[in-house]
Amino acid sequence: MPKMQNPLIQKLIPQSKIKALINNLKKQNKVVVTYNGSFDVLHAGHIGSLLEAKAQGDVLIVPLNSDQSVKSYKGHSRPIISEKERALQLATLECVDYVVLFNETNCIKILDKIKPDIHCNGRDWGKNCVEREIVEKNGGKIYILSWTQGLSTTKLIQKIIDLYKKPVNKAVFLDRNGTINISNPKVSQTIQSFQFAPGAIEALKKLAKTKYKIIIITNRSDVAKGLCTEKDVLILNNWIKKNLKEKGARIDHIFYCPHHPEAVIQKYKKNCPCRKPGTGMLEKARDKYNLSLNDSWLVGDSIKDVLAGRLMNIKTIQIKTCGEKTADIQSKIGPQFKAKDLKEAIEKIILKK
Ligand SMILES: [Zn+2]
Repeated sequence: MPKMQNPLIQKLIPQSKIKALINNLKKQNKVVVTYNGSFDVLHAGHIGSLLEAKAQGDVLIVPLNSDQSVKSYKGHSRPIISEKERALQLATLECVDYVVLFNETNCIKILDKIKPDIHCNGRDWGKNCVEREIVEKNGGKIYILSWTQGLSTTKLIQKIIDLYKKPVNKAVFLDRNGTINISNPKVSQTIQSFQFAPGAIEALKKLAKTKYKIIIITNRSDVAKGLCTEKDVLILNNWIKKNLKEKGARIDHIFYCPHHPEAVIQKYKKNCPCRKPGTGMLEKARDKYNLSLNDSWLVGDSIKDVLAGRLMNIKTIQIKTCGEKTADIQSKIGPQFKAKDLKEAIEKIILKK
């Protein structure tokens, strides 16, 4: 395997070596360009400006505000990224030839050492900037970059704060028949015939003590097949929620797909978006509860459950079915984890929290 080079070794120049570097570059008649900044949380605005700066000459040297320097004008909350990491990010860019760290609030002292032919500045700072005098004294020019994209790290941070004001939740999605209760695919479930899987209630009580939203997603094509009505589904759903609540467990929401798999395909030439392995129910839950799906889990006995979860980047656990098995589809995709039953699956989730 080829050895990985640390770009810092070639590109991060200590201040003591600037003089020798510049003498060498001038000997080769290179046009030296500088563009300084803190480059905290590198974004496309930085990249655009650096590319434009590099285009003004042959060699681009970036004087980089050290952590101490950034704090001196941005306050204690910045930088977000340490000077070592910021230097590494810059050094990795092809358009950046050298990086020099400096501790002062402005880069006048370091520019007096570099004596750039061209010093670039953002539009916000303009031509009459603090660096102008020293650059022109040494025979250089100030160039104002035209790159503007309305991007700034401060704006980015504010965007993140605004987005995360509303709490981001995670969920455990549970299939119903064959997972929570003993399945009998030949008959439609009723309150009378509903039987929790062994250990399911105890496991759900443990899960209820976590911060996970607990959401059932169930294919209920028995509605479309005329085996029961949508009202029957709602009655049973409410009973499951109430019954578990009385026992100290909780179900936050039950999403169900009432559509007929074949009838929908015949009519619309495609599956309904909600029937698993369709992801419609997961998407509805994500939007309703502001869920981060890749921090969420899905437990089901069928490959249809697993597929729906994996398509949405949810961690999936397939369990052995509790009851009779319904026909499954063929798939090369499998779950990340397997468990014996719902109890073992929930124990896994709680352990991995
Ligand atoms: Zn559906």
